Amino acid sequence: MDPPLLDTRPCASPWDPVPPVHSQYVTRPKTRLEFTFTKSSSYSMPCEAASRFLILYGSQRGQAQSLAEEICQQAAEHGFTADISCLSNQRNYNLDSEITPVVFVVSTTGDGDPPDTAQKFVRKIKNKSLPHDHFSHLRYALLALGDTNYANFCNGGKTIDSRLQQLGAKHFYATGHADDGTGLEVVVDPWIEGLWDALKKTFSSMATSDQQDAVLSDSTQDSFHKTASGQEKNKSDLEVDLHLLKLSEADSQKGKGIESDSRDVETVSAVLVASLKQSVPPLSQSALNVPALPASYLEVRLEQVSTEGETVPSDKDGYHEVSISKAVQLTQDDAVKTAILLELDVSEQNLAYQPGDAFDILCPNRASEVEELLLRLDLHTRKNCAVQVNLLKNSSKKAAKVPLHIPQNGSLEFILTWCLEIRSVPKKAFVRALVDFTQNGSEKRRLLELCSKEGSADYNSFVRDANVCLLDLLRAFPSCLPPPSLLFEHLPKLQPRAYSAASSSLQLPGKVHLVFNVVEFPARPEHPARTGLCTGWLAGHVSSILRPLGTVLASERLGTSALPKVHVRPRPSSTFHLPADPSVPVVMVGPGTGVAPFIGFLQQREKEREVYREATFGEMWLFFGCRHKDKDFLFREELERFVHNGTLSHLIVCFSRDEPDAAGTVSTPTYVQHNLHLHAKNVASILLKDKGFLYVCGDAKNMAKDVNDTLLEIIGNELQMDKLDAMKTVAGLREEKRYLQDIWS
Ligand code: FAD
Repeated sequence: MDPPLLDTRPCASPWDPVPPVHSQYVTRPKTRLEFTFTKSSSYSMPCEAASRFLILYGSQRGQAQSLAEEICQQAAEHGFTADISCLSNQRNYNLDSEITPVVFVVSTTGDGDPPDTAQKFVRKIKNKSLPHDHFSHLRYALLALGDTNYANFCNGGKTIDSRLQQLGAKHFYATGHADDGTGLEVVVDPWIEGLWDALKKTFSSMATSDQQDAVLSDSTQDSFHKTASGQEKNKSDLEVDLHLLKLSEADSQKGKGIESDSRDVETVSAVLVASLKQSVPPLSQSALNVPALPASYLEVRLEQVSTEGETVPSDKDGYHEVSISKAVQLTQDDAVKTAILLELDVSEQNLAYQPGDAFDILCPNRASEVEELLLRLDLHTRKNCAVQVNLLKNSSKKAAKVPLHIPQNGSLEFILTWCLEIRSVPKKAFVRALVDFTQNGSEKRRLLELCSKEGSADYNSFVRDANVCLLDLLRAFPSCLPPPSLLFEHLPKLQPRAYSAASSSLQLPGKVHLVFNVVEFPARPEHPARTGLCTGWLAGHVSSILRPLGTVLASERLGTSALPKVHVRPRPSSTFHLPADPSVPVVMVGPGTGVAPFIGFLQQREKEREVYREATFGEMWLFFGCRHKDKDFLFREELERFVHNGTLSHLIVCFSRDEPDAAGTVSTPTYVQHNLHLHAKNVASILLKDKGFLYVCGDAKNMAKDVNDTLLEIIGNELQMDKLDAMKTVAGLREEKRYLQDIWS
């Protein structure tokens, strides 16, 4: 452990101010402007003590890691030194004797679990034999990442936070809960900004050490007095407040920015509106605080050797190449969305699965986008070069590593096609890094605005919410020409997409059915119309064998060699399975493609009923919904068969866009939750009296929340309890794993 050090280096804010620049749209002569990135003293904070602290991250998909690295990088700007480690590398740190402050950045995965990389750490601190003051020496701050679209928001971070508290550790700065659903940066940016002050106070209180605890608690309060208008609150209130306050600040900032922009604009010219490429006053005239330039850390060499033959990823991550033996369009051509069923032939690979499990599918980036990117970056003639990636010597980036997802000696084209999520929304740090590879002064200025504090509302509207990707930025800023190393440093790993099995291997040995909607993104000023990366690709990939519902099966007409192939990997679920006891009743809620796992459940139960004729089987209820009865009622015939043969006890359907007929005979419930209300007594009885199971699958953004709210009402009414008690009962159902969700957005 290192003792706190005194450091007299000047300390500056990570937000480097840039001189105000007038927009090209104001009636002034246009000037070409150069920007300097010097640190202005008005933004620097006095640096009393520079000290070491420790950053520990638990990351599932790299978000927490990259934020931890950002904090590490900014630390030097504030006069601190920071060590950084993944929570899984327990050799690198020892919290049992750590007396300098610790900053945790922890994401959440699965059903509110800590990330895989933090599991071992969590098990260690959960050890029941640890005394209650085990961590009484520890001062820490924690940034938890989550998504309010999912149950158990930020639970990965909360689990670690509450256990550290139980073991006597103390916050030196209140916990931040960042929501990917609304934009992590809404909480992350101000949280990191406040961290430096809290650290400074913590270090100075450590220097006067006797009344450490008292001062530490002041320092926590102080950092919130700035944001929470001086109100005295207890810590947990403050944590919630921080989240809400930052959200409302962001909203009001956005509102103010846009409104005042448009008022100013009117006085200058009717055509002045902000867009991805251009800003309007006051932003266009404002001084900017931009993030520090992220340290580059990769050196990329392109070797002129042939890499022919490398067209698909290897199976080292557990992927198997399988044939798609059948592809059926489940919706009518005039349906709002196109749903497609794929049948995978997994007989040769012997892939085992249970209904409720999913499969990961590897999908490539669009060839046209890779091609355009290569052309745009002047790398087209070198696309077959073998790429060698090494760490830059003398990089100031802490704990820099060559990303594992970039293979050595892969061709440039291969890496851009299979390894990097080129469609990801560039983070502000990436936008900042692009500035230094942009020639044109006004383009530079706009990029700086987009990554600046003042330009947050514009970044949110024109980059984040518009789902702009690197290629969109390069189209909008033609003088920007980043090198491949910058792409490798900033583009995240291309992730596989998961699809729930819509079949049971009891009924379809050697086969797996998956069903998906082709995701469509309409054109916007920032980008052309496009389809979802995986679903659009799959739709094109199977177009030669795609058949309308009810026609001849592709596998009967084509030889296996002619069938399209795909790389898949089983993704087992730990909980989303039928109850072990078949006599237990179940309620399944799965509108749209959310019905997929329930088709698997029902196929399984149908077979079990045939085989175990004497067994007792519990009721099965299915709540299904779609837009139109005649256009997108997925699996209609199969579901009717299940009802007919008694497998499915109750099929409750609703059609959100069918008009009531003249006689008013078309049912009124619009969404699945309305039907749940209509059957509230049965649902409550199954869950509360019969110890049954409730499964919800499908859209995380709206449906899962609405169903959850409906469940609270049903339970509240049935048990005559208020909302808080109903919430506790529902939480109990979750804990008993009798209320299970498999939701996605
Ligand atoms: P992507 O290109 O990844 O886009 C997905 C999201 O990115 C959009 O929803 C949107 O939020 C955003 N986005 C990207 N670009 C834009 C843009 N230009 N404009 C606006 N928004 C944009 N899906 C199914 O259909 N069936 C299933 O059975 C199924 N099972 C799943 C099981 C699990 C365990 C999980 C985690 C997910 C499951 N999903 C399922 C979801 C599926 O994995 C994919 O997320 C989904 O198919 C979209 O993938 P995509 O690559 O086509 O879309």
